[in-house]
Amino acid sequence: MALYLVATPIGNLSDCSARAKEILAKAHVLAAEDTRSARRLLTAFEIPLQGRDLVAYADHNERAVAPRLAEALKAGKDVAVLSDGGTPLVSDPGYRLVQEAIAAGVAVVPLPGPCAAVAALGASGLPVHAFSFHGFLPKKPGARGKLLSKLKDRDETLIFYESPQRVPKVWPELVEVFGADRPACLARELTKMHETFLRGTLAELQQRIDAGPPLKGECTVLIAGRAAPEVPDVEE
Ligand code: SAM
Repeated sequence: MALYLVATPIGNLSDCSARAKEILAKAHVLAAEDTRSARRLLTAFEIPLQGRDLVAYADHNERAVAPRLAEALKAGKDVAVLSDGGTPLVSDPGYRLVQEAIAAGVAVVPLPGPCAAVAALGASGLPVHAFSFHGFLPKKPGARGKLLSKLKDRDETLIFYESPQRVPKVWPELVEVFGADRPACLARELTKMHETFLRGTLAELQQRIDAGPPLKGECTVLIAGRAAPEVPDVEE
């Protein structure tokens, strides 16, 4: 028995690993953030559910469902956690269940794969040898301002998730806090047909966002650190 954390595509189905498909085909219980998108994924890969349990495991019911899934694990079942896309637990449910599994002595097995933050980082052109991930920016202006001020003097590249509706709203705050000249990148629709990277200073990107059509699709925001750390030698 094991708890499998299954990374799934963030847009391009070809990014699903053979190992992920194998586990999705054999786990006794599939715990999915959205059961409809999980069904679509299974159908795309012609993986039958065949009487196995498909359980909704989302932010709003994580507290209630995690203990039930932990019971299934303790009863010797394999449980696979998958989110709507990407790596479970990364701004997605799963943390509570991992804690329960560890406490119960159950093996936790990661199946690495797509993750928007990591995909965006590599292609952003910003320094990658030190970075930090901060999930979604707080919606409340006070909490957001506090977090941004805390991060403004950090040296590493900062990564955030944000919705396309909110990117144009928060961008002026980013310019104000980090300064107009700070290098940044807006990665949109990664791995999909309309994948785009806007690269430039925060002020340049502000102009391009303002001048362009309304932003659509999924967005990841990256901001260079105050002083990029030196690129270390790669150790053998
Ligand atoms: N667990 C997922 C992962 O590993 O990337 C992230 C889940 S989080 C709920 C969803 C957010 O990730 C989106 O709102 C967006 O900010 C970012 N994201 C997901 N897919 C993306 C894509 N294809 N392109 C750019 N950003 C994406």
